[in-house]
Amino acid sequence: MLETLNIKTKRRIQMIDITGDISKIVSDNNVKSGISVVYVPHTTAAITINESADPSVKDDIITKLKELVPESGKYTHLEGNSDSHIKTSIFGASEQIIIEGGKLVLGTWQNIYFCEFDGPRNRKAYVKLIKQ
Ligand code: ZN
Repeated sequence: MLETLNIKTKRRIQMIDITGDISKIVSDNNVKSGISVVYVPHTTAAITINESADPSVKDDIITKLKELVPESGKYTHLEGNSDSHIKTSIFGASEQIIIEGGKLVLGTWQNIYFCEFDGPRNRKAYVKLIKQ
């Protein structure tokens, strides 16, 4: 089973919490034990797991990332979005989350984020569930 999440981003850089969507896919497919792979088929968007309880964590990640990898610089890529590609490679295209007892095994403060680095765009995230 391969599920697709369609995500419409609104800003150039944005972190969108997709934990609820992934949890729903797990319960809809009745997977009690296994692994969920969340994969983004884009070169300027990524997946990460981090804190959601305090929204300022997400804001700080975005602010620091903009500082570390500025939008303009000595880049050669003609499309003009090298910073987006670099940010994407730092974060990576996928995360794997254990499923146990029909639920995603996440720490108390952990949630799953779709990371837009060259929006706004219409994006996809694929979810593959592997039953054990
Ligand atoms: Zn590009």
